[in-house]
Amino acid sequence: MDVSEALRAICTTGEGSCWYCDRRLPAAEEAIRDGWDVQRVNGDRIASIILVCPMCQREKAELGEEGFLRNLSLRVCNSTC
Ligand SMILES: [Zn+2]
Repeated sequence: MDVSEALRAICTTGEGSCWYCDRRLPAAEEAIRDGWDVQRVNGDRIASIILVCPMCQREKAELGEEGFLRNLSLRVCNSTC
C-alpha cells in the first residue's frame, strides 16, 4: 500500500484521526512530512485501515506493541475514570 496515496485519500474525507490517541490528521502534505502511517488491520470479517500518528509510532517503537497497548489503556482509563 502506498502510504502517501492513502493519506491523501483519507485527508479528502476530512475524517482522519489517529487510531490510538484521536489526534486529528493534518493536511495531507503535513501528515506525509510528519510521518503519519497507514496500517492495514485484519478484523473479524473485513480488513480495515487505521491511521497512526508519529507520536504513537514512536511510543510503540520504544515500548513494544504490548507495552504500548498497556500504556494506552492506562491513559484511557485515567481520562475516563
Ligand atoms: Zn496517536
